Amino acid sequence: MTLAQFIPAPASRMLLALLLGLTAAAANILGGLFILHREWSRQYLKYFLALGAGFMLAAAILEILPESVAMAGNRAYFLVLIGYFIVHFFEHTLAPHFHFGEETHVEHFVPDHAGISALLGLSIHTFFDGVAIASGFLVSGWLGGIIFMAIALHKIPEGFTVASLMLASGQSRRTALLAAIWLGIATVAGVLLMGLLRTQVAYALPISAGVTLYVAATDLVPEVNREPDTRMALLVFLGVAMMLALGKIFHS
Ligand SMILES: [Zn+2]
Ligand SMILES: [Zn+2]
Repeated sequence: MTLAQFIPAPASRMLLALLLGLTAAAANILGGLFILHREWSRQYLKYFLALGAGFMLAAAILEILPESVAMAGNRAYFLVLIGYFIVHFFEHTLAPHFHFGEETHVEHFVPDHAGISALLGLSIHTFFDGVAIASGFLVSGWLGGIIFMAIALHKIPEGFTVASLMLASGQSRRTALLAAIWLGIATVAGVLLMGLLRTQVAYALPISAGVTLYVAATDLVPEVNREPDTRMALLVFLGVAMMLALGKIFHS
């Protein structure tokens, strides 16, 4: 049995996309709560980051890219590049200082401005997380499911990152949590927009592929490599293996 047979009609697939979009949004909020609860172990977040990096890269290259080219032809490659640089522009050009993980570089933050621009950059990225989930489900249940998994794995560290950025830029704990909730809302907005723009999936999917490549290879992998523990680097391979195993089970 394939996932596509399991979820036959596009309408019910869009409902599933919305439910999974809400789940991803909840993971953003959970990540925000992590920074506010000192007693919760933050080590787990790094595991999600490493697993997510491997899973996302494998999903982007082996699943999202080929489907994009099948839908949009050679035009897909240029759209992938656009998706990649949308995130680069908003996270790393517009924001003066940004990286995934706990923000401890308080010296880089001018109160208010830096935190707010990083929040804007991350909002654009999370909006495309939602666009990617919905675009996947517009193509097939399998593609939607695999994109959801890829995105879900980095959603908790993402919420943690934004809450941490807010605290480092001098905002209150309440504002930090609101920022994580805001990222969740941006994710759901991405799903809803694609529910309205279903016919544009041939553009949205390749752009999502570029965004996913950026988040995995440029945001997550460098954070994994900052860890002295080589087990973290090995977890990236486990993420790749998980993606390959799901392909064997559900999509061969
Ligand atoms: Zn920093
Ligand atoms: Zn994300």
